[in-house]
Amino acid sequence: MEKRNCRVCGVSYQYPVPKSIATRFYCDQCVQIPGEIRRVLELMRRKMDRMESKIDKLERERTSAEG
Ligand SMILES: [Zn+2]
Repeated sequence: MEKRNCRVCGVSYQYPVPKSIATRFYCDQCVQIPGEIRRVLELMRRKMDRMESKIDKLERERTSAEG
């Protein structure tokens, strides 16, 4: 059993779990979302992830510049 992060909501879950409908890439909640909607959510999640890491980087730069 391994720990995975859902590509849509980012939650971490164990995979595979007997009787769980979760897949390699999606948790048991997101796996129930229709494919075409899930694809859009997945794209948005990736965009958000990029923005988050960019913000983190800017924050760190700002903090070190002040210090
Ligand atoms: Zn999920």
